[in-house]
Amino acid sequence: MKILAIGRNYAAHAKELNNPVPAEPVIFMKPASSLMRDDKPFYYPDFSKDIHYEVEVVLKISGNIKHIEEKFAAKYYQELSLGIDFTARDLQQKCKEKGLPWEIAKAFDKSAPVGNFIDKSSLADPYQTTFRLEKNGVIVQEGNTANMLFNFDSLISHLSRYFTLNTGDLIFTGTPAGVGPVAIGDKLEAYLEDQLLLTCEVR
Ligand code: ZN
Repeated sequence: MKILAIGRNYAAHAKELNNPVPAEPVIFMKPASSLMRDDKPFYYPDFSKDIHYEVEVVLKISGNIKHIEEKFAAKYYQELSLGIDFTARDLQQKCKEKGLPWEIAKAFDKSAPVGNFIDKSSLADPYQTTFRLEKNGVIVQEGNTANMLFNFDSLISHLSRYFTLNTGDLIFTGTPAGVGPVAIGDKLEAYLEDQLLLTCEVR
């Protein structure tokens, strides 16, 4: 199982971190050891003082695919959920300044909690679906998949040019604006439409 993740897929978020809006998807990976399920708590790591939440729609790949055309891509995901792409923003900033890879800031242990999956057929339109993150009961991020720069089909097609996608692989599809820090004691709750799919406490 691998996790592929997309950076800067919502223009308003690219802007808030002073990044250009990309012409092609920005891709990075998180290893299987970053995955966390079952609403387990997130333990604040000792190597960062600025861990940020980034709520994202997560696709689960069904099928083993390579070089898939965009028009066929929708056949290869049936379920989706929400995840948090925990990011050590202080480490990421240092990596970016030096032009180095992001792994220590993005791919560390348990940096990818993922909620319950729902069937895409239960949504009126997966390509126009709202989602949000609440921190301690206050909304901090709101997104709509219609505002993605590269939609699900485009992402699957693009990723499959470089990586064989296998059943069970996950795609973090990028975060909308509103990313921010977490502190020990915070409770994060992620909703797709009005369905609570993920809860994560920071300890
Ligand atoms: Zn992200």
